[in-house]
Amino acid sequence: MRKIIPLFILLLIFSCKSSVKTESKTITITNSELETMVTYLASDELQGRNTGSEGIEKAAIYLENQLKSYEVKPYFETYKDHFKVDSINVFNVVGVIEGNDPKLKNEYIIIGAHYDHIGISKKIMDNDSIANGANDNAAGTSSVIAMAKYFSAKKNNKRSLLFVLFSAEEKGLLGSKHLAEKLKAENINLYTMVNMEMIGVPFKDRDYVAFVTGYDKSNMAIKMNEYLGSHVIGFSDIAKKYNLFRQSDNYAFYKEFNLPCHTISSCDLSNYDYYHHVDDETDKLDYNHMASLINTIIPAIEKMSNSLTKEIVMYEE
Ligand SMILES: [Zn+2]
Repeated sequence: MRKIIPLFILLLIFSCKSSVKTESKTITITNSELETMVTYLASDELQGRNTGSEGIEKAAIYLENQLKSYEVKPYFETYKDHFKVDSINVFNVVGVIEGNDPKLKNEYIIIGAHYDHIGISKKIMDNDSIANGANDNAAGTSSVIAMAKYFSAKKNNKRSLLFVLFSAEEKGLLGSKHLAEKLKAENINLYTMVNMEMIGVPFKDRDYVAFVTGYDKSNMAIKMNEYLGSHVIGFSDIAKKYNLFRQSDNYAFYKEFNLPCHTISSCDLSNYDYYHHVDDETDKLDYNHMASLINTIIPAIEKMSNSLTKEIVMYEE
């Protein structure tokens, strides 16, 4: 016999549902906010954000102000995590959103991207010598800020989230190496790291939206797809061929912690002609793609930060 549910219980269920709906804010990252951030970071005013330059200093101030405006707290005493490159003082920018679970908040997930670029290029094209680094990596940097904004508004993460903008990546992953060593010395309980690189252009010929570097080192891609219920993150043989796993800041953390630390990207150099080129400019990017990718993967980061156990694990070598 079918169960007959009394009307008042039905009404109760529906009223509860609707009240939950109004309480939980819907936050969507828009293409225009991403374009605004990339446009500033990749503007000629910032002179290609070379480590130690005036331009990157301006970028850092901008990023700190963004984090502050979204009420993301500094992880250290200030947002600046200082280190030296060729005896010049430089710094990563580090914000934190503490987890809301008394136990799990002691476990950390790093969401990172490098905000430096290569500055003034020797290749001069149409009187332009500023390597603006829009895709590499104003795009990834903007995605980290966007996710910081999202999680600061939602505060639905049980684990703590570190939002890190790395300097001196282009000098050989120096910013990430510095921070990885520092956090290791602090004995941080790191779970995993998601690093964002060159997500400004889409693939046209793949059955996935983005790839993860070091695909076969951990189950991160498989888990993310499982969390999302679709094949969003794939394997790029080109990324494997060029060993892109070792070419970005995830690698410094992998080396220090031997944990699943990967880079997510939608560009493996086969779908963008302007890598480290003065024409890597704001107008080359597809902001609809960027917003869509970020909005798509956020639920996977949410699941990562809320799973009862650390489900993303390294494969045995
Ligand atoms: Zn890069």
